[in-house]
Amino acid sequence: MKIKIIGGGPAGMYFAILMKKADPAHEITIYERNGPDDTFGWGVVFSGKTLANLREADEESHSEITRDFEAWDNVDVVHRGEKVSIHGNSFSGIARIRLLKILQKRCEELGIQINFRSEATDIEMLRRDCDLLVGADGLNSAVRQKFADRLHPDLSVRPNKYIWYGTNQLFHGLTLTFREHHAGVFAAHSYKFNQTTSTFIVECDRQTWSNARFDEMSDEDTRRYVGDVFVKDLNGNPLLSNNSKWINFVHVKNAKWYFENVVLLGDALHTAHFSIGSGTKLAMEDAIALAQSFASEPEVTGALQAFERKRKPVIEDYQAAAYESMLWFENAREYIHLSPIELAYSLMKRSGRVDDDELRKRDPEFVARHERRLSADYADSTD
Ligand SMILES: Cc1cc2nc3c(=O)[nH]c(=O)nc-3n(C[C@H](O)[C@H](O)[C@H](O)COP(=O)(O)OP(=O)(O)OC[C@H]3O[C@@H](n4cnc5c(N)ncnc54)[C@H](O)[C@@H]3O)c2cc1C
Repeated sequence: MKIKIIGGGPAGMYFAILMKKADPAHEITIYERNGPDDTFGWGVVFSGKTLANLREADEESHSEITRDFEAWDNVDVVHRGEKVSIHGNSFSGIARIRLLKILQKRCEELGIQINFRSEATDIEMLRRDCDLLVGADGLNSAVRQKFADRLHPDLSVRPNKYIWYGTNQLFHGLTLTFREHHAGVFAAHSYKFNQTTSTFIVECDRQTWSNARFDEMSDEDTRRYVGDVFVKDLNGNPLLSNNSKWINFVHVKNAKWYFENVVLLGDALHTAHFSIGSGTKLAMEDAIALAQSFASEPEVTGALQAFERKRKPVIEDYQAAAYESMLWFENAREYIHLSPIELAYSLMKRSGRVDDDELRKRDPEFVARHERRLSADYADSTD
């Protein structure tokens, strides 16, 4: 089969790897607008379950990925300067550039052609010249836009502002830090992803963003301002920029996932709010699901139908959980009056997917602490 893939991110490269492994006769070309060493962003996270899926799909890249992993089991919530740790949440992190390098090397080993610095512009021409065209071209997918009348995308720009930074302050575990400031409420999502660096994503509502006047600030002033908000958490370490800009999260869905010989994958197809840390995981698991569909239905239409039928309910479930999590952060001001333990409890249950039993299984001491707090509040109110 002749396969053309637009986008050399995790979704595009991983799909190419799995298809080439399944049949070395496939002729696969990836078009990537950036060079092999260009990337935006810092670390990416995977859960224990995702790692098992990656091992099953491709042992070679899995062993490279896990060699450099930073693993942890705690979520730390920092509020009013107090840290509450919740254990039993298994996650690992790796630098995005390291992940891309591992996948690039694996593509090279398998004989997959990656055309770097090659922007795909004439998408219709590419589509006519192959058996399968994969739009793995990320959030602003040109493939999705080109075939919008067939795929029926639904994009919603969310109100909160966020910015991806790095820092050499090491956050061991997924750390959610809240700071009340005269401009409003800021939240930081941070985690260590190698020996020296952590991701540090800062999020705030529109009102806070306007009050701070970020629209009038240079990149350097923005970093300084945000660094001051989180001065106690960063421990003197500056925020590191990598083309970092304030952006709004865009929630992406598509009513149809394919038409004729075109299919979308990863961020081009769907997004899930970064607070559940699953953009890269979902992109790679999409690639696994699509490759599996081709294994059971070698004919293109049948395979794409099977992919949409099997994978869509999984993604809808994820997006629903991520949506609840996103709403929690959009309404963070409403929770900020809570005590640290109550805020942590509310955060752990925000997606609607973790109930008390599950939380108790993960960290009985945390649940007991929360219950003691509730009893104390009740006793106070009846005094
Ligand atoms: C600025 C930014 C920073 C991020 N940082 C992180 C992070 O630190 N941690 C994390 O977990 N997630 C991060 N994400 C989200 C994460 O990157 C995605 O969820 C995940 O990478 C999705 O994988 P993908 O392969 O679908 O898309 P992408 O990784 O976005 O890959 C798409 C690729 O397509 C290429 N492309 C697009 N259009 C064309 C074209 N017309 N022709 C040729 N090539 C094209 C792009 O250059 C890109 O390499 C970040 C996202 C953004 C926008």
